[in-house]
Amino acid sequence: MIKVENVELAATIAKPKDKFPEPLRGEFAFVGRSNVGKSSLLNAVLGKRVAFVSKNPGKTRTINYFLVNNKFYLVDLPGYGYARTSKKDTEEWRRVIERYFRERTWNMKTLFALIDSRHELMESDTQLLEWLDILGIEPVVVLTKIDKLSSSELNKQLQYFEQILSSYRIKEIIPCSSLKKEGIGRIWNVISEELLKNE
Ligand code: GDP
Repeated sequence: MIKVENVELAATIAKPKDKFPEPLRGEFAFVGRSNVGKSSLLNAVLGKRVAFVSKNPGKTRTINYFLVNNKFYLVDLPGYGYARTSKKDTEEWRRVIERYFRERTWNMKTLFALIDSRHELMESDTQLLEWLDILGIEPVVVLTKIDKLSSSELNKQLQYFEQILSSYRIKEIIPCSSLKKEGIGRIWNVISEELLKNE
């Protein structure tokens, strides 16, 4: 298990002229619909409040690089699919994320795709998964906010997601709760294993 000794915001990418940071030992990216619980998950994984929870949902169009132990990055990608987003915002999201995939997939060890465990897969999630398939990126799916479900509801949702996600190439499905700190260890296992591959 990796001990988080040091976290810093190493880079924020917003404009085309903004430069990606040096690759170091690689990066682990987090993507999902806005409000899926991405900031809370990043904070739970890092054990620190580094990402902003729920400020202006759907408005952040930046990529934040959190440097961990001066060795690797957790990358906070902008959220998509916010109900009140305009077409222009959606295009802006696509432009930012396209640039990310084009320029950084080579340094990305794992993409964690976050999906709210309580709902059905939404069209924007499906679109992302199809796009990842085309790009040859196999994500780890993180089902968020499982503390909001009873154990029988959770079982039902797990079956639903296993079934519906079986048509995509996915590494694994990790049910998580940032609130109850469940599933966080499994995320660290993925990160540790990937980092070990390069040593
Ligand atoms: P983001 O927009 O994807 O970054 O989502 P946030 O992390 O800002 O979370 C959106 C909302 O969901 C906030 O009100 C959080 O408190 C709540 N939330 C996030 N994760 C969890 C969780 O694991 N359990 C519960 N019960 N609520 C959560």
